[in-house]
Amino acid sequence: MKYEAVIGLEVHVQLKTASKMFCGCINEYGGDQNTHTCPICLGMPGALPTPNEKAIIHTIQSGLMLNCQIAPVCKFDRKNYFYPDMPKNYQTSQSDLPLCIGGHVTLHKYAFPKDVQKESLASEDKKIRINHIHLEEDVAKSTHYTDHSGIDYNRAGTPLMELVTEADLRHADEAFAFLTTLKQILIYGNVSDADMEKGQLRCDVNISIRPVGQEKFGTKCEIKNMNSISAVRRALKYEIDRQIDVVSSGGIIQQYTLGWSDDLGETFQMRKKEDSHDYRYFPCPDLLPIRTNEGLHQEAEKLIPELPDKKKERFMQDFQLTEYQAEVLASERPLADYYENAAQTAKNQAAVANFIINDFLATEPDFSDVSIPAKHFAELSNLVEGGKINSKGAKVIIAELLENPRSPEAIAKEKDLMQDLDPSVVENWCQEAIAGNAKSVEDFKSGKKAAINALKGYVMKQSRGKANPALVEEILLKKLS
Ligand SMILES: [Zn+2]
Repeated sequence: MKYEAVIGLEVHVQLKTASKMFCGCINEYGGDQNTHTCPICLGMPGALPTPNEKAIIHTIQSGLMLNCQIAPVCKFDRKNYFYPDMPKNYQTSQSDLPLCIGGHVTLHKYAFPKDVQKESLASEDKKIRINHIHLEEDVAKSTHYTDHSGIDYNRAGTPLMELVTEADLRHADEAFAFLTTLKQILIYGNVSDADMEKGQLRCDVNISIRPVGQEKFGTKCEIKNMNSISAVRRALKYEIDRQIDVVSSGGIIQQYTLGWSDDLGETFQMRKKEDSHDYRYFPCPDLLPIRTNEGLHQEAEKLIPELPDKKKERFMQDFQLTEYQAEVLASERPLADYYENAAQTAKNQAAVANFIINDFLATEPDFSDVSIPAKHFAELSNLVEGGKINSKGAKVIIAELLENPRSPEAIAKEKDLMQDLDPSVVENWCQEAIAGNAKSVEDFKSGKKAAINALKGYVMKQSRGKANPALVEEILLKKLS
């Protein structure tokens, strides 16, 4: 029997705000343990919360960037549970009236892992539906030592956005593409740094399998707390195979909460999942419902930048880039801005894209500390475009730029790469080439156009590579016609 996977994601995103969700404590990663705390985020009796407007605006903004409907009214609820990472014994969250409803993310080809981009799965532009996005406060961070556990409340009460997808994903590769795209959009919008290693983007995965053609979902397992997008992909691949093995050999899938060990490459059982939690949600008596139409929606709209999809289309139209070039350059906002700066004064903007992607990013994949001024790429491409240097020379110049950035033209002169020969000298070499290669000339005249390459080769050799090939060809053709 053939099985298919049914996958849904719950993604937690730490919002980039100055202060915590309901108090004035600083919202910052790191810091000495339990130093960013106050009576409100420690849940002392009588402490009153005040909602963070920025966090609400950023959540609405995220909803708008992800095609969601924004609820006209939302409210905060208390989600009751007893856990040491939640000193109040409840978490302020949103239950039946979340901020954003619906929405979707489109999976484009280049968001998929490199090794599957050529497969049809990656070319369908599938839409993954979002169920809702709600806003809540994060809990404290617990660390378990051999004989005791420690709790750091610096993270307790920081704003956390939770995005829940429909179970629309069918492959581990689709989960990879979804998270890649989501992360890109959140970073573009400056909503979160979405660094998974720092826990700023955390992901729980629900996964079940069912025979192809069956509508009813199978029993699902949940894999908790994934800390990288590629780990999500590996864990899902493993878990799908495991579930198919269990079912094919007559077994039954138990509803477990699982962890993922990247070292072992296996999922493991954390606990048996209870069927339904009774969180006894009730509206938070300390917080009034929020009307999003009272300025919040407009504020959020103002924060939306040109998103990767739109930027990509514009790059293809305005700069004649291929889909691949546009996708790579639009994938990160600083890279896109850098490219646009470089393209501004270039005669051939696609050539600039080529230099940045193939010569620069290929050797310096970490774009964050680039020291080459963007305009140097324009200058370089204009030198090539104007026939002043050849492509070999361009590569030498880029290597030099990476070492010690300065004007490409200055480098070309220093390294004797300029093809600034006197045209009359080139003309003499062409004449010599024709006079000394009767066979090639005869071949060319009898229709073998490729025979001109031998003549060109002769001239290039004479000039030790400094003659401009286009000029050489032009002169040769004129003399042979
Ligand atoms: Zn506080």
